[in-house]
Amino acid sequence: MSTKRVQLFGVEIDSLRMSEAVEQVIQWTNTPRTGAVRFVVTPNVDHTVLLQHNAGLRDAYADASLVLADGWPVVWAAKMLGKPLPERVTGSDLVPALFSAATGGQPLRTFLLGAAPGVAKRAAESIHAKWPGVMVVGTYSPPMGFEHDEAENLRILERIAETQPQLLVVGLGAPKQELWVHRHRDKIEANAALCVGATIDFLAGEKARAPRWMQQTGLEWLHRILVDPKRLAKRYAHDAVVFPRLVWREWATAPRGAHFSK
Ligand code: UDP
Repeated sequence: MSTKRVQLFGVEIDSLRMSEAVEQVIQWTNTPRTGAVRFVVTPNVDHTVLLQHNAGLRDAYADASLVLADGWPVVWAAKMLGKPLPERVTGSDLVPALFSAATGGQPLRTFLLGAAPGVAKRAAESIHAKWPGVMVVGTYSPPMGFEHDEAENLRILERIAETQPQLLVVGLGAPKQELWVHRHRDKIEANAALCVGATIDFLAGEKARAPRWMQQTGLEWLHRILVDPKRLAKRYAHDAVVFPRLVWREWATAPRGAHFSK
């Protein structure tokens, strides 16, 4: 599938609907990898802000096989700047959609990497109960600071290699998950990897996703702050100041007449 990409905030975002993203990833899961693992990143406001000063994250984004707009403000800004994206495609919606699409003869071999100890195992149980077309072949919750420990990194890569998953779901938070997958992309023995934040927590029922009406009205961020104010209030306050500036900069530097798409 050749996809149109939209250049925004220094990254290229794929102009895809959820159904198209699912089709693409399912195709990858059925195609053995020949080089580096194909991986998916899902920019939200916070990623967009982080990207401005994190060259490693920019490199990871540049090498990602799919870049899907996770945040409403990213989709709104794209529309306002005359570069409309068809819809919001969140990582946390993409994973269940992929599981629902896994109806082939063989179950979709899936590895869950990340979340607190025990959480991925609980997620595996609920996945097996809900999606018979998915088989969780491995789970692993790396210890704090694992990314700086080469022996630990090797252990994780070995665990993945032993189980040969078609799909690797990585929930380590941003930018850790994107940097880790990018750094180890040549050694990750999976057909496709998804960098999807708290998705494993959601699948396990460990964290509650915002109610549908909040997701649909662009208020998911408010729900997340209310649930986890200590961790997120400062981050979101910072993003609320920086993101409008980024939108303004895009606006100011765009060719005349490019704004306000219908
Ligand atoms: N996490 C992890 N290992 C780490 C850091 C985070 O497994 O070293 C997990 C954490 O348990 C949670 C997820 O990463 O499941 C964080 O996802 P979230 O989307 O909330 O993070 P964000 O990208 O918003 O920081």
